[in-house]
Amino acid sequence: GADGEVFEFQAEVGRVMDIIVNSLYSNKDVFLRELVSNAADACDKKRFLALTEGEAEPEPMNLRISTDKDARTLTIEDNGVGMLKEELQENLGRIARSGTANFVKELNSGEADVSLIGQFGVGFYSAFLVANKLEVYSRSFKATPEEQKTWKWSSTGGSYSLKEAPDTEFFGKQSGTKIVLHLREEAQEYLDSGKLSDLLKKYSEFITFPIELFNEKVQYDQVVDESAPRKEGDKPKMKSVPRSVFEWEVMNKMKPIWLRNPDVVNESEYTEFYKTTFKAFDEPLSVTHFKVEGQIEFRALVFIPSTMPFELTRDMFSAEGRAMRLYVKRVFINDKFEDLIPRWLTFARGVVDSEDLPLNVGREILQKSRTLKIIRKRVVRKILDSIDDLREKSPAKYENFWNSYGKYFKVGLVEDMDYKDELKRFVRFWSSKSGDNMTSLDEYIGRMQEGQDKIYFVTGEGKRAAEISPAMEKMRLKGYEVLYMVDPLDEICSQSIVDFDGKKMVDINKAGLDLAKSEDEKKELEDVQKEYEGLATWLKKQLGERVQKVSISDRLVDSPATLVQGEWGMSPMMQRYMKSQTT
Ligand code: ADP
Ligand code: MG
Repeated sequence: GADGEVFEFQAEVGRVMDIIVNSLYSNKDVFLRELVSNAADACDKKRFLALTEGEAEPEPMNLRISTDKDARTLTIEDNGVGMLKEELQENLGRIARSGTANFVKELNSGEADVSLIGQFGVGFYSAFLVANKLEVYSRSFKATPEEQKTWKWSSTGGSYSLKEAPDTEFFGKQSGTKIVLHLREEAQEYLDSGKLSDLLKKYSEFITFPIELFNEKVQYDQVVDESAPRKEGDKPKMKSVPRSVFEWEVMNKMKPIWLRNPDVVNESEYTEFYKTTFKAFDEPLSVTHFKVEGQIEFRALVFIPSTMPFELTRDMFSAEGRAMRLYVKRVFINDKFEDLIPRWLTFARGVVDSEDLPLNVGREILQKSRTLKIIRKRVVRKILDSIDDLREKSPAKYENFWNSYGKYFKVGLVEDMDYKDELKRFVRFWSSKSGDNMTSLDEYIGRMQEGQDKIYFVTGEGKRAAEISPAMEKMRLKGYEVLYMVDPLDEICSQSIVDFDGKKMVDINKAGLDLAKSEDEKKELEDVQKEYEGLATWLKKQLGERVQKVSISDRLVDSPATLVQGEWGMSPMMQRYMKSQTT
């Protein structure tokens, strides 16, 4: 038909649309934030594409927003990467991101907040909060010159159609996307340039491309005032006459926040930047902003979220959940590079802007780059400093930190030899003396008994199980504190710690536990060993291959016997864990 081919939305999209179209949600402004952020993403993508594989130099990029009061439309245009026909179908007809289904469910039940829509990869559809019809014109930067066509996608909500469009006057020459919103009756306020200008200033502050609004400006012309009485020979009287002119006005004139001097940026500006850039809805737990000059030069701004980023809740190392944005001389390169920070800092969000890296950095170049190694080291240093700060000055915040990200640090201790020693001081465990809080190794050492020279721990599936381990009897008697390793990660990590402050970590459930003894105690043990030698030999005979050996020791107080692992053996918890990992 006249609309071209008609397609159905994927079922999930259909549901998102239903909810949005029928939404009585009052804060409709979010649509503008979402469309502006998509347009800026598209510009980033084009620049990156041109740098990494392109012959074509990308034209200067920007965003343009304009209105047509008669047609009641609002238009948002960019000369970014654009979309091929298949991409229009893929991106504006389907939902790619996992987790979106949950969001839809919550939206349905009225629990989720529509303003969070951007986090779920469906921000585009928020356009239907204010529009009853959408037209998207797009031309892709990826298409070869011969196949380069402009496609028109349009929808009134139920289904969408696609057809080839005449080369619409994109302001960009190479590629771009233009979205025309036919505003609903109740959304006519978005034709008002004052309202648009306010919103754009808010949403565009952190976007590095110019965002221009086609804005009405009143100019005053000086004209001869014919009505003024005038005598022969007098100069003509002039008057000012207002005249409206429309011109493109740049909305975001501020420098990107990370280029500003930390002294002049306030907390709420950091928070706003954090929320808009990383699609977060929490407050950052810590902010680190610094500049390095000299041999190498870069700026960095790093946040630790106070709640685990959504993308990491299922898979703590998910690539999608990485968000350290690498810029080279203000040009956004990528936010998924694995070499920028260690894996155990996956949860950090931030910006690194380097003066020295080449603009065409690919993964391979980065891996070998000495400059990047230095940057990485400095950034990690600063992040650890900021966490140290929390640890020392705000115990409650540190607790929050540890509860959310402790497991990352435990993994770091195990897999990152460069930071292993450094990470030990951050670790927290439950212990027989720590009560409702966890303890650090430092605090443990501070409470050590006279004559105690080791750090003792016991493994168990949970605090309670660890607590009632028979091996604890003797420790209680001696007054020794024992750390509880309550999950496999704790245990792997404790093995990897080996020692702290010169004190060895010792599993009290393993053979060879060697507690300091007095002369009397030694004598007593020898006597008992002599007395029960026969029993031990008999027991070994009875148990046969099921045990390695039976020995008489002084590690128990009330229980008659206990099973222990060989010094190099695995705990039962660990054995079960390894089994579950391999099947
Ligand atoms: P998200 O931005 O989180 O991916 P959206 O629903 O906002 O989710 O957008 C879906 C996809 O549509 C984007 O990932 C992008 O591929 C494509 N898209 C949206 N707007 C544009 C645009 N202006 N230019 C190019 N591609 C776009
Ligand atoms: Mg988006």
